[in-house]
Amino acid sequence: MPARVISGTELAAALRAEVAARVAVLPFRPGLAVVLVGDDPASAVYVRNKDRAAQAAGLATETIRLPGTASAEQVLDTVRRLNADPEVDGILVQLPLPPHIEARAVIEAVDPAKDVDGFHPLNAGRLQDGIAALTPCTPRGVMKLLAAAQVPLAGARALVLGRSTIVGKPTAALLLAADATVTVAHSRTRDLAEECRRADVLVAAVGRAELVRGDWIKPGAAVIDVGINRLPDGRLVGDVAFAECVEVADVITKVPGGVGPMTIACLLENTVIAAVARRGGS
Ligand code: NAD
Repeated sequence: MPARVISGTELAAALRAEVAARVAVLPFRPGLAVVLVGDDPASAVYVRNKDRAAQAAGLATETIRLPGTASAEQVLDTVRRLNADPEVDGILVQLPLPPHIEARAVIEAVDPAKDVDGFHPLNAGRLQDGIAALTPCTPRGVMKLLAAAQVPLAGARALVLGRSTIVGKPTAALLLAADATVTVAHSRTRDLAEECRRADVLVAAVGRAELVRGDWIKPGAAVIDVGINRLPDGRLVGDVAFAECVEVADVITKVPGGVGPMTIACLLENTVIAAVARRGGS
């Protein structure tokens, strides 16, 4: 029997509606500020989508656009101004930054209480301790997809493919906090296929089109595909060969329409969490 396909599009719409309902009864309007440096076209699209979704959920939004020639000090000054602005609850610096600006320094300049991306070392450390309130949006979306599919995590063998700071590592930390037995695989892992075959839960965050094949999947596994890869013919595919894996897995997500929409919805949720923590309310 083919796997159940969990729709991130539907789940994200439900979460956005939940956020909007929560915002509607707050005595203040949570504010999200996005800093965009340079004119990378993909980043511009992401920022526009985030801005639209935030406005639709009733958040106050501000996008600060700086030229690609902006100095590190200018970007840091912008972050400091937003840190000090009482109307701003969430700050997101769109990555990647131009090469002359050290992303780490900018991320560390964001007030951890307004760090809605969850990338500040304080929040990353809290995540390792299993006590973070603001967790990175894409991994948070992965966990919500698994929860919606009622995938049992306690005691399950989970494999995270990819060890990036943005996706792989925080996803592994969240799975561990949910009592899974977690393995993190990466570009230097020996016999990736064999590692995958042991996994009850497989999260692929690599950025290699259809790397994970049907015969890598343990029958009955849950497969969450984070990858976004553009093929030469223009098609968008994930890191998982969907047509093969859907025949073996029990639960699977698609690309597009899986993790992607969840990322933005979780950003809105994080903004409300940050706002309520800072200003009070429930
Ligand atoms: P990254 O390039 O920072 O990290 C990729 C990881 O994959 C690295 O840890 C690397 O060791 C590992 N890797 C590379 N080649 C490998 C191979 N052949 N076998 C095993 N491991 C390998 O990427 P990232 O930022 O973590 O993003 C991963 C993918 O997820 C990309 O396709 C990206 O576009 C996508 N992504 C999607 C969302 C979303 O909202 N859906 C958000 C962030 C990233």
